[in-house]
Amino acid sequence: MSEPVISKKCGHSFEESAILSWLRSKNFCPKCHENLQRSDLVKNYSLKNAIEYMRKQEKQKGNE
Ligand SMILES: [Zn+2]
Repeated sequence: MSEPVISKKCGHSFEESAILSWLRSKNFCPKCHENLQRSDLVKNYSLKNAIEYMRKQEKQKGNE
């Protein structure tokens, strides 16, 4: 995951590119089947920060 987004309706998170291509042909959440539109998605900054933090930790381990 590099650009996580979250659904305002159901709270599920997705990779942005993956959910956008899903929503081209469907209009519901792939996890819970709640009605879902592009406009219901917001960037998930806290998850993005957590991923970046974990990646940094992994890098540091590799350098030791
Ligand atoms: Zn959902």
